[in-house]
Parts: sequence; C-alpha cells; structure tokens
Amino acid sequence: ELIMGYATTNPYTGETVKTFDTATEAEIDAAIAKADEAFQTWRDTPLAERLPVLAKAADLLEADVRGYAETLTLEMGKLIGEAELEVKLCVGILRYYVENAEAQLAPRTLSVPGYGEGDLQVVKEPQGVLFAVEPWNFPYYQVIRIGAPQFAAGNSIVLKHASNVPQWALKMEALFREAGAPEGLLVNVFASHDAAEQILADPRVRGVALTGSEGAGAVIASIAGKNLKKSTLELGGADAFIVLEDAEIDKTVDWAVFGRHWNGGQVCCSSKRMIIVDAVYDEFVEKYRAKVKDLKPGDPMDPATTLAPLSSQSAADQLREQVEAARAAGVTVEDAGVEVPSQGSFFRPTIMSDIEVGSETANSEFFGPVSSLFRAKDEEDAIRIANSSPYGLGGSVFTSDHKRGKRIARRLDTGMVYINHPTAVYPDVPFGGVKRSGYGRELIDLGLLEFVNEKVVGVS
Ligand code: NAP
Repeated sequence: ELIMGYATTNPYTGETVKTFDTATEAEIDAAIAKADEAFQTWRDTPLAERLPVLAKAADLLEADVRGYAETLTLEMGKLIGEAELEVKLCVGILRYYVENAEAQLAPRTLSVPGYGEGDLQVVKEPQGVLFAVEPWNFPYYQVIRIGAPQFAAGNSIVLKHASNVPQWALKMEALFREAGAPEGLLVNVFASHDAAEQILADPRVRGVALTGSEGAGAVIASIAGKNLKKSTLELGGADAFIVLEDAEIDKTVDWAVFGRHWNGGQVCCSSKRMIIVDAVYDEFVEKYRAKVKDLKPGDPMDPATTLAPLSSQSAADQLREQVEAARAAGVTVEDAGVEVPSQGSFFRPTIMSDIEVGSETANSEFFGPVSSLFRAKDEEDAIRIANSSPYGLGGSVFTSDHKRGKRIARRLDTGMVYINHPTAVYPDVPFGGVKRSGYGRELIDLGLLEFVNEKVVGVS
C-alpha cells in the first residue's frame, strides 16, 4: 500500500511546508504504553480534578483563537473565519462537559425487588486506551468531539490524525499537556494505515472511534470486529435539502448556497442533494445559480473570500474525476461560472441536474462545491428521493409550516434533520448517522457513554 506520509502542504500556495516521519512499530507500541500509563493514573483521578483540565484547555483555546485558526487555514485551506468558528466550537464542547459530565457519569440506581434502596446500581467506569482516527476537514473539532467526553469519563486516546494535518495533531497533544493532563492522555502517532492492525490487536486498546470515509470506516470496523473491540463510525453523507412549495424561496436559496459551500463544500453534512418540488423548481434553481455565481474564491486568510480551495490537489483531482464520470453517464453538468485563482487547489463550482435516482451519481458523495439538483413531483416524491441515498447522516426540510416539516423529518432515514436550516453542528447536540453514514453518536451523554463500562454493582 502506498503511503504518502505526513506533511503540511498549503492548499492555497501548493507549497509543502513541513514533512514528518511515519511512526515505526516500536514507536506505536511506546505510544500505546504511554497512553495506558496515563489511563492508570487518570482513571483514579477524581472527576473534580479531571474536569479542570478540560476547562483549562478551553481557556487556552479561547485565549488564542486566531493563532489556532491560522494553523487550520494553513494546513487544510478553510476560510479563516470558519477556522475561528471551529476553534470556538471546541471551546463550547469542552465547557459543555465541564458542566455536564458529573451528572452524566453519576451512578444510576435501580429499584429491584430483593435489594434495598441504593443497593443495586449501574456505575460508569472508563475502560482504557481508545484509538481515534480523524479526518482533516474539521481537524480540531473532530478530535475534541471524542476527546472531551472520553477524557471526562477517564479514558485516554491514541490519535491517528489525517496525514495532511500533522501540525494540528501536534498542537492538540501540546494543548492538553499545557492544560495539565498527564503525559499520554492524548498521544499522537503518525501511523500508517497498516498500523491499525497493531493498535487494535493490542489488549490495552479498548475501542476505536473513526470519522472519515466509508472506505476507511469499513476497514477499521472490520479490524475492530475481528479483535472484538467496539467501534463508532462517523462516515460520509449526502444530505438531502428538501425545498417545498411553501418555503420562503430567497432565504432558502441563501441557506442552500451556504449549506453546500461552507468549508469549501467539504463537510460530511453539507447540503449535497437539493431536492426541490416541481412547483418551485425553476424559480429556486434560477436564484441558486445566481447566488452560486456570487461566490468569491481566493486567499482563505482574506476575510472577503467566501469560497475556500479544496484541502489538497489530489482532493480536487478526485472530485474532477467524479464529475466527469457523472457527465459521461448522462448527467447535465453545468459550470457555475465562478472564476477561481490559477494557484491553489480550487475547484470551479459545478451544478449537476437530470440525475437518475439510484444511479452512481445520485448515490455518491461529492466532497467539494458540486451541487446535485433533483426535481421532485411533490412532498411524497421528495421524501422518496431523500431516502433513496445509501447515506443517512443529516438532512433538512424547508417549509413555512413547521408541523409539516416535523412530520417529514420523522420519515427521513437519517440521524439528524433540521427544519429551515442546513444540517447544523452545535457543541451540545448529538451528531451521527445511520445506514452507510455509520453508527454510534458523538457529543452529549450519548457520545460520552459509547466507551464507558456501565457496570452493575449489587449489594445483597
Ligand atoms: P478518509 O480518507 O477516510 O480519512 C479519514 C481518516 O482515516 C484519516 O486519518 C485517514 O488517514 C484515515 N484512513 C483512511 N483509510 C484508512 C485505512 N485504510 N486504515 C486506517 N486509517 C485510514 O477520509 P477523507 O476522504 O480524507 O475525509 C472526508 C470523509 O470523511 C468524507 O467522506 C466525509 O463525509 C467524512 N466525514 C464524516 C464526518 C462525520 O462526522 N460523519 C465528519 C467529517 C468528515 P490518512 O490521512 O493517513 O489517509
């Protein structure tokens, strides 16, 4: 298997700024040992002493939002404003667990005949080292999303971050050290893909959380499975963005442009499939086209830029191949007419229509500024098209009738649905999907409990 190795390449200039060596088997073993050692002290550290580490990490981030954000923009090219929001989102997640972890980890008392009051409890205990495999599109958020709850719960983490965000991975490790965590609570490894076998076979490692593509998820889940380790998977998505005839069209168009293009279109829960009922299809599409044309690609460090380059040239090349395959299959492919800089890994915004439900194009995830438009006969047809996707991450319904929106939401086969908003990301709302978007949830108590041993203790 060809491993490109860990490197920072600025997607706006194409310049490779720094490269890092891939970890050896011995280095990985040492990393697991360090994480296990940290776990042995951390598990017995009272919650009242664990939580201040999270609080301190939040404070450190908050004190230098700009500095942390700049590394994000440098490594994967997201707009500086989006990078700042990501750092702030992480502050929110850390503080959420500082506030709520105690209640979420409190023992649960069961009333069972034969046992006195309080004599039968489910206590929540940490299990050990977790393996976290994370992607580059939200380099910080993804790690905090698993790290904050699991550190609160008492587990430690060996992190394998994406190969294009190595500096982030190191910053993360340094952040928790600076916040007072024991060495090894979060250990970064520049691991090859193959190292997953070694890591998941190690008895000190108790589970794995992966956020990434379906392909990576299937590989990691099967390695976890054969080692009888639990996995949670947050995978790709092709969220439906349903537009009904009673939607406020202008507002809806604005949300559609945002939902499809934020983070350079590289979001698992981007509004990738716009499903518009026939009655407003032409009006929506005409306005959508005009608004997409207004996007301003450019230097992601410039606050006036509204469309970021893709994270790497290979990401752009791959997307181009996917679009060409769609064109070859008979899909109408339209260049939205946005001029992009000649430098950097930009992708010209593209709008696809006449896509057959069930086709390769309809069922694929396009990770970049490529919109898929579907014409639905009516509400029922829109639901049918939405649910035809192999993915089931998020989705949205645009309608001025909230009751109708909620009724439709219940019928969408996804983990999240928002009415009159693209799939949203909050520090205090669970995140995750169904079908080929994976399994398990992250955030709130649902995420915290994924890797906790809910142990029964009964006193007779
Ligand atoms: P990717 O290739 O799957 O990479 C994600 C992570 O998995 C990286 O750390 C990558 O390492 C690692 N990886 C890939 N193949 C592996 C293997 N065979 N064994 C071990 N590790 C492996 O994902 P991507 O295409 O860069 O990222 C975008 C994908 O993530 C999209 O599908 C997106 O929808 C999804 N995503 C989902 C969520 C969610 O919460 N549901 C959030 C964000 C992104 P290398 O970098 O070294 O290859």
